[in-house]
Amino acid sequence: MHTAIFSPLQQLNHPSIANLWVKRDDLIDPYISGNKWRKLKYILAEVKHKNKNHLVTFGGAYSNHLVATAACAARNGLKSTAFVRGEAVENEMLMLCKLFGMTLIFTDRQHYKNKIQLFEAHFNGNDEAHFVDEGGAGAAGAKGCAEIIAELPKDTEHLFCAAGTGTTAAGLLKGIHQQKLKTILHVVPVLKGGDFIADEILKFAGTTAQLVLHTDYHFGGYAKTQPELIEFIKSFTAVTGLLTDPVYTAKMFYAIMDLQQKKYFNADQKIVALHTGGLLGLLGMQQKFS
Ligand SMILES: *Cc1c(COP(=O)(O)O)cnc(C)c1O
Repeated sequence: MHTAIFSPLQQLNHPSIANLWVKRDDLIDPYISGNKWRKLKYILAEVKHKNKNHLVTFGGAYSNHLVATAACAARNGLKSTAFVRGEAVENEMLMLCKLFGMTLIFTDRQHYKNKIQLFEAHFNGNDEAHFVDEGGAGAAGAKGCAEIIAELPKDTEHLFCAAGTGTTAAGLLKGIHQQKLKTILHVVPVLKGGDFIADEILKFAGTTAQLVLHTDYHFGGYAKTQPELIEFIKSFTAVTGLLTDPVYTAKMFYAIMDLQQKKYFNADQKIVALHTGGLLGLLGMQQKFS
């Protein structure tokens, strides 16, 4: 994970907005994509430091984090196991996990709730196994995401990201303050009631200064969509050539374009959107786009 990465900053080609740039973390890797690569970087360092050889983690059946963890483990000669929420299913994401050698343990929603207990029940006394929280959440994950800031222009006025757990946002805000930048971090929670994200961010960033939450772009909640969001993805992709996914980045870009239309930004302000990747999930969504 110490190899050089490819994540260019590209100006978006869209008739309604002139000053929007996209940090292409989605290009870092097709499988260890976007913020999941950033988070796994220091999780992996910790695993190596502690001489462990087995990543044990948690996620839903369409989790980008599971594919990323499986690929990361395989490339680094580690074993991987995932507790997958819900009854046994097959899909293209889990197929990739299995190809990368991950062991899947389907877990009903009741047992899934207590992750520490699950880990201990299966790996008690196994000192090769390393607990990796759902979505790569935690301090090590935030540390990796903080590094993104050093790769951005210092005169970025507005930085946008989508948020699930808030770990990525926390890292970004930490990075902004470490570099003493004036950048405002705009966070678009993809869950309903996203105000809790502020507490998560505070936990790892130590502050909520220069943070703005936009909690009205969840489209019904996590992994929920509405026809308006699907129409947005279709036209946005056709106009810009940039793919987004309905769970995360489409909600962020929708928010940016909506705020632009409401004259939220000044024309001379540099806006950067972090493309956190996660495009594989699109492959299971034919029905939404037909
Ligand atoms: C996991 C994921 C997120 C959410 O990141 P958090 O750090 O949990 O807030 C955002 N975008 C994409 C594409 C993701 O896969």
